[in-house]
Amino acid sequence: MCGIVGYTGGQQAKGILIDGLQHLEYRGYDSAGIAVFNGKEIEVVRRQGKVAELVAALGADDCLGTCGIGHTRWATHGAPSDVNSHPHCAARVSLVHNGIIENYMEIKEFLQEKGVVFHSDTDTEVVAQLLDYYYRGDILDAVQKVLHRIEGSYGLGIICSEHPEQLIAARKDSPLVLGYGDGFNMMASDVTALIKYTRDVSYMENGEIAVLTRQGIQVYNILLDPGVCKQRYYKMTLSDYITPDYPPTYHWYGKNDMTLMTMCWSAQGPVLEKALARNHVTHIYHVYDDAPHAVAAGKGTDAEGWLNEAVAFWEEQVG
Ligand code: GLU
Repeated sequence: MCGIVGYTGGQQAKGILIDGLQHLEYRGYDSAGIAVFNGKEIEVVRRQGKVAELVAALGADDCLGTCGIGHTRWATHGAPSDVNSHPHCAARVSLVHNGIIENYMEIKEFLQEKGVVFHSDTDTEVVAQLLDYYYRGDILDAVQKVLHRIEGSYGLGIICSEHPEQLIAARKDSPLVLGYGDGFNMMASDVTALIKYTRDVSYMENGEIAVLTRQGIQVYNILLDPGVCKQRYYKMTLSDYITPDYPPTYHWYGKNDMTLMTMCWSAQGPVLEKALARNHVTHIYHVYDDAPHAVAAGKGTDAEGWLNEAVAFWEEQVG
């Protein structure tokens, strides 16, 4: 499981994207890359290897701009290489993808018959080329058409040079979290990439599309109807940034005084089970069936005890 981060706001995006990718490194990956709109066009730098290699490849004048996307890749289609690394571009669009497009070959053949030339062996480039194929000035409309056509799993982060301050996120069976800031907004496959910048987050549901600008985030369903989407909005009040690997993160859910904790199930499962047995935790929710991610909830001081215990456990694990 690899990572996605996206930023649109008033600051330079490059450092924020790199920082986000560094906090997603624990998920495992073979390549990394970023794309930033530089005022004229979308500039992409991507490398096989570690985020450190991407950082080394990035010159001080590269990728200057305030809206961009970043990716760590775990190759499924096409060997790990610079050219197969994300972001993938087609004319005015650039995108990052977590997951697998099952029907990519059929779409690739369809596009090749129309004269589209592919540059990588990935399933992901098919999404970028199809998006460009459908794009007639309305990027959201093109995204909707693409989502109707592709099959498989995806977390997608998309930018378009004709909508330079806009980020689009879409997900199905691959996690995406939206981060709400003051004068900026972000998206990521995991909250660890966001908590340094904002504690206001919501988890996207399968089938949702989000449009992020620096002023706000609008979430739509697949029919582009904004009315029917539930917003799940968590205000994080405490984040213990214990290690850059995978810290537990805490949320306070304002409505009913619940304390929530997002954590990596595979790493923290034992402490959650213990807390559940002692009634420190009342619920454990698996946020996504397909990701090693859980949210646990408890009430009042009991939850506090459990949180402290979880932190101690985490500290033990990371030494
Ligand atoms: N299937 C895509 C690829 O192989 C994305 C893999 C990923 O989730 O990183 O490039």
